[in-house]
Amino acid sequence: MGIPDILVFGAGPAGCTAARLLASWGHAVTIITRPEGAGAALAESLTPSCGKFFDLLGIRDAIDGAGFVRATGNTVWWGRGEPRVEMFAHDARGWQATSIVLERVMLAEAERAGARVERRLLTPEDAAALPATFRLDCTGRAGLLARSRAGRRMEEGHRTVALAATWRRPDAWPLPDPTHTLIESYADGWAWSVPLDETRRAVAVMVDPRTTDLARGDGARTTYLGEVGKTARLRALLAPATLESGPTGWDASMYASTTYAGSDWLVVGDAASFVDPLSSAGVRKALASGWLAAIATHTALSNPSMASAALAFFAAREAEVYANFLMLTRRFLHDAAEGQAHPFWAERAETREWDERRDREQQERAGVQAAYERLRLAPELRVHRGPDVRLEMRPAIAGHEIVFEPRLITPDDPAGVRFLHDIDVVTMVDLAPSLRQVPDLFDACVGRAGPMDLAAFLTALATALARGWLVFAPEIQPLPRP
Ligand SMILES: Cc1cc2nc3c(=O)[nH]c(=O)nc-3n(C[C@H](O)[C@H](O)[C@H](O)COP(=O)(O)OP(=O)(O)OC[C@H]3O[C@@H](n4cnc5c(N)ncnc54)[C@H](O)[C@@H]3O)c2cc1C
Repeated sequence: MGIPDILVFGAGPAGCTAARLLASWGHAVTIITRPEGAGAALAESLTPSCGKFFDLLGIRDAIDGAGFVRATGNTVWWGRGEPRVEMFAHDARGWQATSIVLERVMLAEAERAGARVERRLLTPEDAAALPATFRLDCTGRAGLLARSRAGRRMEEGHRTVALAATWRRPDAWPLPDPTHTLIESYADGWAWSVPLDETRRAVAVMVDPRTTDLARGDGARTTYLGEVGKTARLRALLAPATLESGPTGWDASMYASTTYAGSDWLVVGDAASFVDPLSSAGVRKALASGWLAAIATHTALSNPSMASAALAFFAAREAEVYANFLMLTRRFLHDAAEGQAHPFWAERAETREWDERRDREQQERAGVQAAYERLRLAPELRVHRGPDVRLEMRPAIAGHEIVFEPRLITPDDPAGVRFLHDIDVVTMVDLAPSLRQVPDLFDACVGRAGPMDLAAFLTALATALARGWLVFAPEIQPLPRP
C-alpha cells in the first residue's frame, strides 16, 4: 500500500466532518482514533445551528435517529437578574448529546463515505512520523500535532475546570421546559445542566482553581457537592435527586494557536482553539472547522498552485473565529458578573473590545442611514468609485474549493468584501458610476448577478456610500428638505 493521501487524527465532530467530506470527494482518508470507551462521556448541548452542517454532511437522519433529547432553548439564572427563558428562534430545536454517542454516529457516517478507521492510542511522535501526504490534527485538547507545531497559547483569565456528574430524580424535573439547558451563576463560579433523558440530567460546575473558594483535600465529590451547594436554583432542583455517577473533571480553559497550518498539516476544531463551554458552541465550531479544513485540504491536494492561499485562508478564518468567540464570551460573562465582585468574574468580564465594536457598528448604522437619506433626496444617482478603494483578487470559498475572486479592498479592510446582505457589491461598485438612476442600477445588477432583494440592494448601496466604496460626485447637491 502506498502513502495515504490524508491522515485524520481523532474522530470527534471536527475529524469526522473533515474525513467524511474528503472521502466523499474522492480522497484516500484514514482516521486514527482512540479505542471506543477510552475517554469519559461528556454531555453537550448542540445549538440548532449545527443542523446546517448535519445537512451539508448528509447525516441529519442519523443524528436525529440517535435518540438525543431535542432542546427548545435555555433557562438562565444569570447575575442578580430575573430568570430568563430563551427559546431558540423560529421554533428550532437543538440536540442534548453525549460526546460518545455523537462520535459513534458521526464516525459510522465517515466510514460509510469511504474513510478507513484505525482504533489505537497515538503519541505525538506517532502523529508526526506516520507517512501521509497531508495530516489533520483533530485530537481536541490533546493536540497531538498542535502542541508541538501550532504554538498553543492559553488565554489569560480564562482558566476553568469543569466538574460534571449525572443525577437522577425519581419524579419529573419540575421545570417549565425540561428539555432546556439550565445555566446559573453564583459568587465564584457557574453551573450548567442538560437533560440526558426524562429522569437523568448532567450537572456541571465551572470553577477556577486559582480563585474559586473550593472545598479541598477531601476528594472531587466533596469539592463538587460544595460548589453545587453554592447555587440556589440547581441546588433546590437536585435536593430529591440522587448523584448517579461522577463527578468527572475536565479542563475547560480557553486557548488558541499561534499558527493553524503548515505546508502539509492543519490543526482543526478543539486542537486549534477552545472556546468557553458557556457559548455551547464548541461542537458547532468543530463542525465548521472540519468543513473548512476539508475544503483547504482538497484545494491543496487537487490544485497545488492554490495550496498556500488555501492554507492561509483556513488559518486566517480560524484566528478570526476564535477572536470573535473570545469577545462574545467576555461579554456574556460580563452580564453574569453583574453584582458579583469576586475575582472569578472580574478577570473574565472584559468588554472593551465588545464596546468598541458596538460603538463602531452604531456609527456605521448612522452613516448608512444618512447615505440612504441622501440617495432618496438626490435627483439622480451620480457617484464614482471612492479614492481609497481597490479591486483585488482574494481567496474565497467556491463549492469544495478555495479560489481567487475579486474583492473591494480598503486600507481598513485588507481582506476585502465581495457580498454584503447577499448583494454582490463588486458588481454594484463597478456598474454604479455609469448609471444615473437607482432603479437602472438595480436592473443592471440583476442582469449581471441574478435576482436579488430590493431592500437588501438599497441597504448595500447606502453602505457602499457610507463606507466610501462609492462617493457622491461633488456637483450633486441634495434637494432641500420640504
Ligand atoms: C466541560 C465541557 C462542556 C462542554 N459543553 C459543550 C456544549 O454544551 N456544547 C458544545 O457545543 N460544546 C461543548 N463543549 C466543547 C465540545 O466538547 C468540543 O468543542 C468538541 O467536542 C470539539 O470537537 P473536536 O472534534 O475538535 O474534538 P474532540 O471532540 O475532543 O475529539 C477529539 C478526538 O481525538 C481523539 N484523541 C484524542 N487523543 C488521542 C490520542 N492520543 N490518540 C488517538 N486519538 C485521540 C479522541 O478520542 C476524539 O475522538 C464542552 C467542553 C467541555 C470541556
